[in-house]
Amino acid sequence: MRPIFARIDRAAFRSNYLLAKARAPQARAWCVVKANAYGHGLLRCAEAVRDVADGFALLDISEALQLRQAQFAQPILLLEGFFDAEGLQQAAEYDLSVVLHSAPQLRLLETEALPRSVDVFLKINTGMNRLGFRPEEVPALIARLRTCSAVRSITAMTHFACADGAGIDAQWARFEQALAGSDLPRSAANSAALLRFPHSHADWVRPGIVLYGASPMPQLESAVQLGLKPVMSLESELIAIQYLQAGDQLGYGASFVATEPTCVGIVACGYGDGYPRHAGTGTPILVDGILTRTLGRVSMDMLACDLSSIPAAQIGSRVVLWGDGLPADEVATAAGTISYELFCALAPRVPVRD
Ligand SMILES: *Cc1c(COP(=O)(O)O)cnc(C)c1O
Repeated sequence: MRPIFARIDRAAFRSNYLLAKARAPQARAWCVVKANAYGHGLLRCAEAVRDVADGFALLDISEALQLRQAQFAQPILLLEGFFDAEGLQQAAEYDLSVVLHSAPQLRLLETEALPRSVDVFLKINTGMNRLGFRPEEVPALIARLRTCSAVRSITAMTHFACADGAGIDAQWARFEQALAGSDLPRSAANSAALLRFPHSHADWVRPGIVLYGASPMPQLESAVQLGLKPVMSLESELIAIQYLQAGDQLGYGASFVATEPTCVGIVACGYGDGYPRHAGTGTPILVDGILTRTLGRVSMDMLACDLSSIPAAQIGSRVVLWGDGLPADEVATAAGTISYELFCALAPRVPVRD
């Protein structure tokens, strides 16, 4: 077997969820497991928090049904709501909470005959300008939802654009203003807001990336500083070693040229496995637990690394691309992206181990 695999640490996932809850002790916490739990495996992660999770948030009805079929009885929130009448019917049948963000969704809610009423998360657009109703529409919407027999409960919800950077002040003010005089429960905080802005915790927080052990704001606070544990380790091995002389080139496009004798390790991992092709020379990588750097372009199935400082390395030496001992945030930063994208991009061809 090709020696690449992703190791998933369920105990780390559980520990991160409990840490998130401890940082927002007054709130319930949606365990955000969209996109197959950010590439980590939906059921694997959900099982790790079965007895402690307040609820699960995701996008696809099919993922919600997997959780229901696996006997998860917690609330499940569909973060984009339903897309058609059939989706709404299924949401009601399987007792899924729905985000309500558009007029067509509202019409369906008012016209479909449902087997039971649903919990609605009314999405208010406070400045992200992706989904949601305008703040000034909110009082009339709440009145309308209160008379709608398909609605069991209403929670007001918004999503922050800059919780990891400039902050949430303007959006929070618009949220509060839209809800002035209303005692509806609220949900606003993603991972970054949960960690940085306790006043936004409200009734339900929505941590995602922290559950997977990465920092939502690596420039401000690292995952290690936050006490988070990496959940996914992408691991492989050296499958060849090359000895370059000064002037020798390496890989496609010859983007790396040795300026001195250089020992190079070839790793069985490439962009076909989900490793970012944009990670240029210098991206951190661990060989036999020792930090070194990648060299040259990432190919589909292989990449190269510098073994100059690791003379004991040999074919079969263990390589960690990210995870155990090498924060995904550091690889992501070197590749000009974020940990979220690394995790979600893990290719189906990479076997997963526990
Ligand atoms: C993905 C998502 C989250 C979680 O965001 P993180 O930055 O991963 O914590 C929270 N709320 C909504 C609406 C989302 O789509």
